[in-house]
Amino acid sequence: MEIQHFEFLKHLIRFNRQVYLDHNATTNVSSHVRRKMDQVLKNHYGNPSSFYGIGRKSAEMLEQARHYVANAIHADPHEIYFTGCATESNNAVLKSVSAHFFPKKKKIISTPIEHPSVLNTLEYLETQGIIVEYCPVDHQGRVLLAELEKQIDEQTFLVCCMLANNETGVIQDIPAITKIARDHDVLVLSDCVQALGKIPIDVREWGIDYASFSAHKLYGPKGIGALYVKQGTPFTPLLHGGHQEHGLRAGTESLHNIAGFGAACQDVNNLLADAKRIAVLKSQLIQQLKEIKPDCVINSPEAEAECLPNTLSITFPGVENAGLMGMLDYRGVAVSAGSACSTGEDKPSHVLKAIGLSDQAARETIRISLGQTTSERDIRYMTHVVQDYMEGRTPYVNMITPGQLNETILFDEKTYVLDVRPDDDRRKHKGLPNSHEVPSFAVEKYLDQLPKDKQILVVCPGGGLSFMIAYYLKAKGFKRVSDLRGGLDGWRKRRSDLYQKYAGQNVTVLQPGK
Ligand code: PLP
Repeated sequence: MEIQHFEFLKHLIRFNRQVYLDHNATTNVSSHVRRKMDQVLKNHYGNPSSFYGIGRKSAEMLEQARHYVANAIHADPHEIYFTGCATESNNAVLKSVSAHFFPKKKKIISTPIEHPSVLNTLEYLETQGIIVEYCPVDHQGRVLLAELEKQIDEQTFLVCCMLANNETGVIQDIPAITKIARDHDVLVLSDCVQALGKIPIDVREWGIDYASFSAHKLYGPKGIGALYVKQGTPFTPLLHGGHQEHGLRAGTESLHNIAGFGAACQDVNNLLADAKRIAVLKSQLIQQLKEIKPDCVINSPEAEAECLPNTLSITFPGVENAGLMGMLDYRGVAVSAGSACSTGEDKPSHVLKAIGLSDQAARETIRISLGQTTSERDIRYMTHVVQDYMEGRTPYVNMITPGQLNETILFDEKTYVLDVRPDDDRRKHKGLPNSHEVPSFAVEKYLDQLPKDKQILVVCPGGGLSFMIAYYLKAKGFKRVSDLRGGLDGWRKRRSDLYQKYAGQNVTVLQPGK
């Protein structure tokens, strides 16, 4: 074979490799889970509430799955309720327990590093008269137990604290927290979504009253959650309707998803065994990244017992995460900047801010979360790409700051503005003048319409997504591509004069394949 063929192969290996390092956002569905779901979809279509044979069979599958979930967290099956997602589980508990105690008791204590499904529900409850206080955390995100003790008073009815954080992986001392709460006759909700399958969970031993779980974080399907409600604790349904789930969660059960969740929980012991291998890979990753960038800062606790084995939050001083993530995506590596739900916005992560990072440091931070499919080769490849980026061996994507984007660039005939913002952002805010709108998830359908001889300026709300699209365009042969740093949000704030004057003028919505 001639030398250029080897070069070509090298190119293919380099660019066709897919390395998924965002398991805290979601996981692939395992083959065991898939098989179980297929079996249910094919054979068990009966409604579990029906009395005849195929209904009774479905009811049996439902109870079997409940049993597997209960086993995985050391609960009794009758303490497990299936929900649509963990967001629903968190909503259901926070709203139901508030309704139970209010107005006799008014206060919930939570932490500033909870998932938005908790934080935004608490914000809503505040509008209904609930008082919410946030217990401070230390620089590693650990709840300050002495502060919690001080904050609890006779008005407090609930402490809400996640077991493990999705962004940094910090693990809270839940047994100590439930002890403090119990001493004051206060209930505890723990969001255990990120912990299941990564560390052992014992809701009974730890004295948790309510806990939320989600199948898609442990190789199960999306759209199915579970809620643990300790026997005898107050709970009223969020959804009213049929008598499903002992009358506490109405709606015909999504049996294939529930069976998938059960199958995923059957595998929990295997996942916990694999967590040891993953922890070793994580330490190799840390070591390699430290060699590449010795001034990097690890935000995740380094003590093994205090951090999820798969999660690494790392700051690279002087390196914007948007550019690095764009480059990693270009080379097939998926990592994230913060939680999946908040990426795309130009807001620095609330978790990183709570543990003391500046806005700038938060924008220089990425989250890498390993999983069952991660191999040593994946880690080597990822660090190799990071090294290429740090040492400037990457295609060049020009970065335009909001301050630089003036009338000259906006109305330059050689600039082509490509707006990849999601529809809801477009409904809220007008776009750049002369921009061309395409959906970010289908850019490939519009490539023929993009000019090769112009500078393409890619614009998204916060400047992260546009970087990924910019690198994608580079890979597709567009030579001059720029990214608007900080996105339209940044420009709107920085150049409100230009936004008022020109935004929304002459916007074209491109049609696919034209
Ligand atoms: N809680 C935590 C800690 C999470 O990481 C997530 C998902 O990212 C959720 C809750 C929400 O889970 P679901 O996607 O099932 O609503």
